[in-house]
Amino acid sequence: MSMATTTAPPGVGAAKWEKNLSAHVICPECKEFPPNLEFPGSHETVCGSCGLVLADREIDIHSEWRTFSNDDQNNDDPSRVGETSNILLNGNQLETSIAGGATGAARQLYRAQNKLSSEKNNKALMAAYKEIGALCDGFNIQKIVADTAKYLFKIVDDHKAFKGKSQDVIIAGCIFIACRQCHAPRTFSEIFAVTKVSRKEIGRIYKSLEKFFTAQNIERSVQVGTDQGFKQTSSTKPSELCERFGSFLGLDYRTWRTAADLSDDVTNAGDLAGRSPLSIVAACLYLVSHLAGAPKSAKEISAVVGVSDGTIRGAYKQLYAEKDRLITDEIVAKANGDRANLPQS
Ligand SMILES: [Zn+2]
Repeated sequence: MSMATTTAPPGVGAAKWEKNLSAHVICPECKEFPPNLEFPGSHETVCGSCGLVLADREIDIHSEWRTFSNDDQNNDDPSRVGETSNILLNGNQLETSIAGGATGAARQLYRAQNKLSSEKNNKALMAAYKEIGALCDGFNIQKIVADTAKYLFKIVDDHKAFKGKSQDVIIAGCIFIACRQCHAPRTFSEIFAVTKVSRKEIGRIYKSLEKFFTAQNIERSVQVGTDQGFKQTSSTKPSELCERFGSFLGLDYRTWRTAADLSDDVTNAGDLAGRSPLSIVAACLYLVSHLAGAPKSAKEISAVVGVSDGTIRGAYKQLYAEKDRLITDEIVAKANGDRANLPQS
């Protein structure tokens, strides 16, 4: 286990110490140069030509982490590290947790740990996140919206706000606001359909949450001097809803795109003022689908948008009366349609 070095004669009069680059490690048996070294176990150096172990018990600099992944079953996964810390949970999740199912003192320890409030808090949060995740999954809402909803929920939870409200209502409100913040707005009725929280409740919690988040944001911007953060959600524009409802109806891109433009024109011009955005969307989809020669009945649209077919026809009549102004050549060209396709009612 010896190592030999050949050293060139040291430079004469060298004032400062420098690494001697002329020194080489070679095998004392073969004296091969350059040496044929191998590092089989990464903690020893072996001569590749004669097999002499030149150095052993070296420090192994390999990582020794575990990921606890499923491939770990055969003990062939050498990495030993857990997940990254989740910013949606409290603390940095570096605690040791004691496994359940033991007896005696271990069982008592397990129970004592379960009583810790920080752990309990995280468990409640996890349950709420799971609920939000499940609701969003079942509702085809993107992950970014679900994560935003979770983040909003955490702000509420951190401030111990809305203590009297049921968690389901707060979750419904957070999902509703998250959808708007991520520019994928859903209507109260759609949120109601998944969360079973009544429209009235959602409307109420939405207003209070909005106020709460805006107030939080002001506080936070004072603290850290940033103007980023919670932006007050603007009310949903009818054109933002056209894409989703259009694809539910099986309309092609041209048609719903034109309906979106028309609904913007209608909103800006103040036609149908006082009617809900949903009625405007429904009437525009009805009109443009007829214009484009792929008509959808008021009943079909009613089933998707969730306003009565009577309302759709009423709104359409108002639009039809103004057709000379609203149905511009641009709209007709965009929809690739014909004004003659438009029905009287
Ligand atoms: Zn050798």
